[in-house]
Amino acid sequence: MTLGAKGLPEAAPRRPIPPFTEEHEDLREAIRRFVERELRPHAQEWEDARWFPNEVFTRMAELGYLGLKYPEEHGGQGGDFVHDAVLSEELPRAGSGGLSAGIGAHTGIATPPIWKFGTDDQKRRFLEPAIRGEKIAALGITEPDAGSDVAGLRTFARKVDGGWVVNGSKTFITNGVRADYVVTAVKTTEEGGHQGLSFLVIEKGMEGFSVSRKLEKMGWHASDTAELAFEDVFVPEENLLGEENRGFYLIVANFQWERLLMSLGAVGSMDAVIERTVAFMKERSAFGRPIGKFQALRHKLAEMALKLEASRSLTYHALRLFAAGEDATREVTEAKLLTQRAAFEVADDALQIHGGAGYMKEYELERVARDTRLGPIGGGTDEIMKEILGKQLGL
Ligand SMILES: Cc1cc2nc3c(=O)[nH]c(=O)nc-3n(C[C@H](O)[C@H](O)[C@H](O)COP(=O)(O)OP(=O)(O)OC[C@H]3O[C@@H](n4cnc5c(N)ncnc54)[C@H](O)[C@@H]3O)c2cc1C
Repeated sequence: MTLGAKGLPEAAPRRPIPPFTEEHEDLREAIRRFVERELRPHAQEWEDARWFPNEVFTRMAELGYLGLKYPEEHGGQGGDFVHDAVLSEELPRAGSGGLSAGIGAHTGIATPPIWKFGTDDQKRRFLEPAIRGEKIAALGITEPDAGSDVAGLRTFARKVDGGWVVNGSKTFITNGVRADYVVTAVKTTEEGGHQGLSFLVIEKGMEGFSVSRKLEKMGWHASDTAELAFEDVFVPEENLLGEENRGFYLIVANFQWERLLMSLGAVGSMDAVIERTVAFMKERSAFGRPIGKFQALRHKLAEMALKLEASRSLTYHALRLFAAGEDATREVTEAKLLTQRAAFEVADDALQIHGGAGYMKEYELERVARDTRLGPIGGGTDEIMKEILGKQLGL
């Protein structure tokens, strides 16, 4: 038994919590080192520039981090979703929600449908260069008049000889400015709705496809969020992803992983925020003692830790089910609902504990608070999560 500074037994090192194994923990250590050394030092610079450089993709590709879950035959690392989960949990330590969003949109939501539903040719043209960091991907579903109500999409693809002609627009698209291709949801029947949606891969440079606006946001400043316009864009047949008119199933399949990724990101964010807040509570003094000695603040910290552990438990539970191939819709939805609000509340509490310093940019908490506010909106709002849960509960 080893004794700690106060002569009390030190906690034994924990074994990894399933589904994580020693191998995943080794990966975690490597990613954490990379994030601390190569990303975190640039977080403020990238926030100010409203852009993180594309070289981040190239560097992460070099380290194998853009293809953790993809098979080696496509240039991936041959891992699984749990490897990708480690990346999602560790990226928030860079302290830039925008960076996590840009990487997450590429690896977590735009490329998985190509892997799952794409033809060999599409995997070669779109997935493999994305894993190599040579092409950047975005997922385009949301439109000015349709967000939560996906069945209400209006962007229309008219069938013509050899492909489709697309007209319409998308908005709030992460990576939308820099993307080399956008995995785009379109209506392929006049009625649209659940039975009339399809996905087309729309590529930069296709005539009639343009970025109509780069949007200014409350947070996620390092990421580019765009409005996209499609004016008579001809998209060839070989860019149809999955089956025609079956796009709604692709959306549903994609949402589970997106929501898990967001939950893992929230857990990683809370973990880092609490760690830094404890350090601050030991250093900062008021009324002749460290502020950590004030019961009111210690209780606040205890509640923050509780939110973290509840979020972690539910997220890992959902991840275990998802990774085992079970239907985890209910647990993933619950995790998304719990963790996104929790991460914002924890950031706000940490900001309060830091006093005036919390309001200053250099302590990074104002950024975390702004960045985490997106959680209860993006990837399906809290209200939509509750609607799904209501249905899951039989109502
Ligand atoms: C920074 C950012 C990045 C994003 N990135 C992407 C991206 O990469 N790709 C992409 O396709 N989309 C992206 N989105 C879009 C995001 O997924 C949507 O904003 C979200 O799904 C909500 O849709 P909406 O904004 O149209 O809100 P709306 O659907 O208009 O909702 C407005 C309000 O009504 C509520 N509401 C709607 N329906 C119901 C209901 N049935 N019951 C109760 N309340 C309801 C909502 O919860 C919300 O409070 C991004 C958004 C942001 C802000």
